[in-house]
Amino acid sequence: MSRECQTGARFELRDLEVDYGSTRALAGVSLRVEAGEQIALVGPSGAGKTTLLSVLNATVRPTGGTIEVNGADLTAYSVRELRRARSEIAFVHQGLNLIPNIRVLHNVLSGRMGRQSFLGSLFSMLFPGRKRVEAVHEILDRVGIPDKLYGYTHRLSGGQQQRVAIARALYQNCRAILADEPVASVDPARARDLVVLLTSIARENGLTLVMSLHNLELAQRYFPRLVGLRQGELAFDAPTSDVSSEQLQALYDLSASQVVA
Ligand code: ADP
Repeated sequence: MSRECQTGARFELRDLEVDYGSTRALAGVSLRVEAGEQIALVGPSGAGKTTLLSVLNATVRPTGGTIEVNGADLTAYSVRELRRARSEIAFVHQGLNLIPNIRVLHNVLSGRMGRQSFLGSLFSMLFPGRKRVEAVHEILDRVGIPDKLYGYTHRLSGGQQQRVAIARALYQNCRAILADEPVASVDPARARDLVVLLTSIARENGLTLVMSLHNLELAQRYFPRLVGLRQGELAFDAPTSDVSSEQLQALYDLSASQVVA
């Protein structure tokens, strides 16, 4: 599968700000993510994790500050360049964004929709040649559901649908995988399996992986670096072994936020 993906993306955020109307979602966030790094984003609901991932994926434009991907300033990109940049960064959403009543094969093929014209993409999605079908089968094998190639997506379990979303991300020929709470809707054993799968796939392919996770145990166990967000600001950014339980507790401590407020 290594030929499917290129080398990992490098991100550099400086003094990033994102406002949604009068809501400040991110304030003064500076962060460097090296190619092939694996980072867990942790923090309470509303801390800005989804917004940060959306900025990395160029789907949310910062209100202030800069974002560079592989040294290029994303805020200066044309619409076309942005589309290209987005197609290299796979995003596994909370809701997975799979099309329910089509076959797994077609959902995975849709990962390359951004690469060609709309009609060209649609044609190769609906009528893939043998090579493409084989490539998808190989990826499904890697994520542990090779027998689901022709299965209907809505008939799969939640965990299997997560795997389809990961397969689609890999087929996208990405340089980075951003995952927003990808394990929120599956049971604890499956959640662990999925984190292990994503981290090992990213490692084997040299992809950068940034994942937001509510489950601190998984974040601490499987990620070498933790970034804590709280009320839109960086609370900490450190190797996992350097993050203390007090720091983690403070991140989620509601009474402290009430004092600050
Ligand atoms: P998290 O992923 O950590 O839960 P989000 O990035 O979703 O945090 O949200 C950060 C803040 O921005 C929250 O206060 C949230 O209510 C607000 N927010 C997020 N998306 C929007 C939006 N589209 N419009 C207005 N406010 C938003």
